[in-house]
Amino acid sequence: MKHTDYKNGNTNENANQSDYDLIGDNHVSTSADTPLRNDAFEMSNADKIKSIQKDFYNIMHTLGLDMTDDSLKETPTRVAKMFVNEIFGGLHPEAEPKASTFENKYQYNEMLVEKNIVLYSTCEHHFLPIVGKAHVAYMSKGRVIGLSKLNRIVEFYAKRPQVQERLTMQVVKHLQRELGTDDVACVIDAKHLCVNSRGIKDINSSTVTAEYGGRFKEKEVKRELLDYIQMELKQ
Ligand SMILES: [Zn+2]
Repeated sequence: MKHTDYKNGNTNENANQSDYDLIGDNHVSTSADTPLRNDAFEMSNADKIKSIQKDFYNIMHTLGLDMTDDSLKETPTRVAKMFVNEIFGGLHPEAEPKASTFENKYQYNEMLVEKNIVLYSTCEHHFLPIVGKAHVAYMSKGRVIGLSKLNRIVEFYAKRPQVQERLTMQVVKHLQRELGTDDVACVIDAKHLCVNSRGIKDINSSTVTAEYGGRFKEKEVKRELLDYIQMELKQ
C-alpha cells in the first residue's frame, strides 16, 4: 500500500506521526475497517435524520446565518437526508450489494480490468468531496462477477466518510471474499477537495492509491494491469 502524490511522486511518510492534526491533514487512515461504534445502527435512519437536522441547524446558526431566510431554512433537512440516505448511505450494512458471482463457464482465466469507475466519496478528515476514478481488476479462480457489480461495490464503500487508502483496501478485500481468490487489485486516482480548494490549494494534484492482492503483487502482472489503465509503474 502506497500513498503517493501522483504529480510529484512523493510517498507519504507521515503515517507514524501521532499529532491528530497532522493525521487529518495528511489523510492517514488508522484501520482497514471503517471505525464504527457497536451501537452504530441502533438508531433508525429516520431518527438519525431528525438528529442531524438539529445539529446542522446549530452549525449554520452558530456561523451567524439567518435561519428564517427562505433560501436557508430547509438546508438542515436537506443535508441530514443527504448524509443518511445518500453520501453516507454506505455505512449501513443493509446497503451492501448482494453477493452474486457466477461459475466461470468460459474458462477465461486472464486478467479482467474494469477501468474508469466514477468515484465520489467524502474525506473523513474534512468532510469535503473526493472525486476520481477507480480501476478494479481480478483473475478468476472459478467464479466471475457481473461488471456492474464492481461499480456497486466501489460505490458502497465510497458512500462513507473515507480515507482513500482504506477505500482501496475495502474494495479489494470485499472482492477477494466474494470471488474466493486473492488475485484482486484496485487502483484509485482521485482529487481531494480539501487539498485542492483549501489548505495548500494545490488544484492540480491528485492522489493515487493501489492495493495489489495475490498474483497482482508479481511485477509482470502488475505491469499488465498498469498498462491496461495506462499508468506508470511506481515501484
Ligand atoms: Zn481531507
